[in-house]
Formats: sequence, structure tokens, C-alpha cells
Amino acid sequence: MKKAYLGIDIGSISTKGVLIDEENHILRSSYLWTEGSPINAVKKVLKELFKEKIEYNVVGVGTTGSARKLIGSILNATIVKNEITAHAIGTSSICPNVGTIIEIGGQDSKIILMEDGIVTDYAMNTLCAAGTGSFLSSQANRLGIQVEDFGKIALKSKNPALLAARCTVFAESDLVHKAQLGYSKEDIVAGLCRSVALNYLNNVAKGKKINEPIVFQGGVSKNIGVQKAFEDILNKKIDVLDNGHLMGAIGVAILSKNEEEKKYDFSNIDQVHFETTSVNCNRCPNNCEIIIVKKDKKIIDSWGNRCEKGELKIC
Ligand code: SF4
Repeated sequence: MKKAYLGIDIGSISTKGVLIDEENHILRSSYLWTEGSPINAVKKVLKELFKEKIEYNVVGVGTTGSARKLIGSILNATIVKNEITAHAIGTSSICPNVGTIIEIGGQDSKIILMEDGIVTDYAMNTLCAAGTGSFLSSQANRLGIQVEDFGKIALKSKNPALLAARCTVFAESDLVHKAQLGYSKEDIVAGLCRSVALNYLNNVAKGKKINEPIVFQGGVSKNIGVQKAFEDILNKKIDVLDNGHLMGAIGVAILSKNEEEKKYDFSNIDQVHFETTSVNCNRCPNNCEIIIVKKDKKIIDSWGNRCEKGELKIC
């Protein structure tokens, strides 16, 4: 039977899964909201990916994203990798000469600079919400419009409002002020898109040389208003790939191909009970918090201990 590789990217907002073949073609994919429970989200993704019979054997599993270690333990992954490497590998598999990856997700953003398929520099922002999807969603609510409509509304603007891009609080109060001054909805929405792009360039990409080709991905890349704002500010072409939201999952699935093969069967994943707890080691003043993952009441993995005294027995 032919071989397939599974990649899972678990973020705080969304969970993505892809199944690729040996030539890196996507066989199936799934994207859904994490909703505060990475374990349930991954179970749902797997259910979706394998709901129809597939003529492939899954021999490799890779995980990335903020809950990569937890989900890697649960799925007995062949590889667990950080988001920078996973996104770089995934994107360069589709756009081999990519120079810059702009990634803006629901709650964080990153920039990855590449040369000849190798990461030369990167930066991440996990602290400031002003340049992320959650900021745009809350402003869409405030304006009474669907965030999905932001892009096409922004494109109608002739004169984007200049909004404070530095942080969420300033941008919000400025937005109210501009509405009171009589700016049209189109100009305010275009101004918001511009403030997301400016915030990113000032805080995440600051001081970095943005080389072409530039690929824009993450949930916010679906917003054509932000794409256009980047193009206008940088005066450079910004590409949005069809599967841009899946790049982390694709990248880690590709990386799993270099690891020793295992046999996987996810048909009963729904019936397996996983639990995560934590304990504090009190053998020294460091008081390490140790995260424990249990499968059907047996410990399958633990981490967080800074020395071997805090190691737990794995069943
Ligand atoms: S795991 Fe090691 S470093 Fe951490 S609290 Fe226990 S003894 Fe101290």
C-alpha cells in the first residue's frame, strides 16, 4: 500500500491537519477552531481526515504549534517541531525561492527570512494583539460587520483613515474618534487593515530586510485589505498561497518523512481517553511545574522538570 504522512498544527485559535503522499501532494486536509481544547480539536481533525476510507498507510506523524508537545505525545508522533521550521519547510516546498514569510494568525504573528530554502532570521510576536486576527475580529464586532467582509469593504476605500497603529487601546479609541469625525465605513476598515500591516512592520519585522518573493499566510492573509495594505506600504508584490493556512502542518508532515517509520491507526481515536494534569516538584526551590499526559489513566509523557530528579515513571 502507498505511504502517507500526517501533519498537525495546533494553535490556540485553530487546529490544522493534512495528509500528504510521498511527493508532498495534499491528499486530505482539515481546519477547525481549537476552542480551548487541543485534544478534542485534534480528535475532530483526525475524524474528519479519516472519515472516508483511504488507500494509504500512515507511516509518519509530525506536530507543530503551541500544543505540539502535548499532541505529539498523544499521537506518538515521529517528530515534534517548532512553528518557524515547520512554516519554512512547508512554504518553501510550494515556493522554493521564498525570501520572506509574513505570518499573521489569530493571536500571534511572525516573520521568517529565507535564502536558498534556509532560514536566515526570524522574529515572533506573541504579546501585542494589535497586529493580529483577534484584534480585527473585535473591531469588526464593534463596527457591526463580519470580519470575512473586511477585505472587500476595505478595497472600496479611496482615502484610508490614519489610525494609531501602536497598540490595541490607541487604535480602538482612534477608531471611535474617526467615526465621530464622519469617516466612511470603507475608509475606517481600510485604515484598520493598514494599522495591522504597520503594526506588524514596526513591531515584528522592525529592522529586517524584507526580500521578495514575499508570501503572506496565517488566518489574516485571507483578508485582501491587509494584503493590499502591505503592498501599498512596501511597494512590493505580496503572494497569498491557496493553502497558506496549512503551511505549518504541511511542513511538519514533510519533516516526518525523514524519521523512522511507524504504523498508525486512528480509527478508534474517539474512544481513547486522554487527560492532562500538572504537579509541582518540591525536591528543590525551583519548584518545577511538571505537565503529565495520561492515556487511559497511564502516564504516557511528562515534561517541565529541569533535572532528572523530577522525572516521572512512564508506563
Ligand atoms: S525537577 Fe529538579 S530542578 Fe525541578 S524542582 Fe525538581 S529537583 Fe528541582
